[in-house]
Amino acid sequence: MTAGIIDGKQIAEGFRQEIAVAAADFQKLHGLKPHLAAILVGDDPASQVYVRNKERACEKAGLKSTLHRLPSTTSESDLLHLVQRLNAATDVHGILCQLPLPRHINPVTILDAIHPLKDVDAFHPENVGRLLQGRPRFLPCTPAGVMKMLEVSGVSLPGLHAVVIGRSDIVGKPMAALLMQRGADATVTVCHSRTQEIASITRQGDLLIAALGIAEFVKADMVKPGAIVIDVGINRVGERLVGDVDFSSVTQIAAAITPVPGGVGPMTIAMLLKNTLTAAELTVSSR
Ligand code: NAD
Repeated sequence: MTAGIIDGKQIAEGFRQEIAVAAADFQKLHGLKPHLAAILVGDDPASQVYVRNKERACEKAGLKSTLHRLPSTTSESDLLHLVQRLNAATDVHGILCQLPLPRHINPVTILDAIHPLKDVDAFHPENVGRLLQGRPRFLPCTPAGVMKMLEVSGVSLPGLHAVVIGRSDIVGKPMAALLMQRGADATVTVCHSRTQEIASITRQGDLLIAALGIAEFVKADMVKPGAIVIDVGINRVGERLVGDVDFSSVTQIAAAITPVPGGVGPMTIAMLLKNTLTAAELTVSSR
């Protein structure tokens, strides 16, 4: 068997075109573009690439983006002041603070300070709570991107056993939450760094989602034959970007697999655009 490729780049492109149409409608109706303010502290090279990609995606979809670039020596209180200023700015709809932050700044303090109605990464406790209760305002970008890929690929989730590797607040936990919601109806198992006999669990997954940040960790003998494999990982190995899944061996056993790059990454950005549009709509409707 050779797995079918779930082409995130292509799915994201289609979705971004839909967002561009909705953004143009929003502008016609309200006389302004949905506006994302991004904050980048320091000069982490990967973060610079991510932020640049997000800005470009905004521009292509007809959204406004503003980048607030701060030196790595910025104090926590100065960063908080910027967040508060953006919270109060009526022409800013979404705020994202690119992680990681320099060590002397507590990311929880900053993320908690972003107004829940402008929290396009869906990291604020209010938005996390709403997601768990099945009444989300914003969906967390990476897990929502995975759900969209599965939907567009025609994967029927009810009754599937989904195994998620990783329990981070950004990917693993919200991924599990989305999959278990009524409507998605998967049966979910979450594995993490303290899981014993992990291969015996991952082999039970009809759907296997790898989000642990270890290059090519998932080998063919950890995958159920015919499984759908979603690789969230982005790891730099020399000059190459590789996922958390050993693509060349797993592709021989899975029914479908996402590539890295060109899989989950583009979907994450598309979902950020969607959330910015949602934030803009929430702002005008709450006026
Ligand atoms: P993280 O480091 O915050 O969390 C990693 C998780 O993996 C932890 O919960 C840990 O318990 C688990 N883990 C670590 N070692 C393990 C092991 N040996 N066995 C089982 N579980 C183990 O990482 P994150 O932010 O969730 O990111 C995970 C990966 O996804 C990274 O490669 C990251 O670059 C990538 N990522 C990609 C996107 C995207 O848009 N494609 C977005 C976010 C993160």
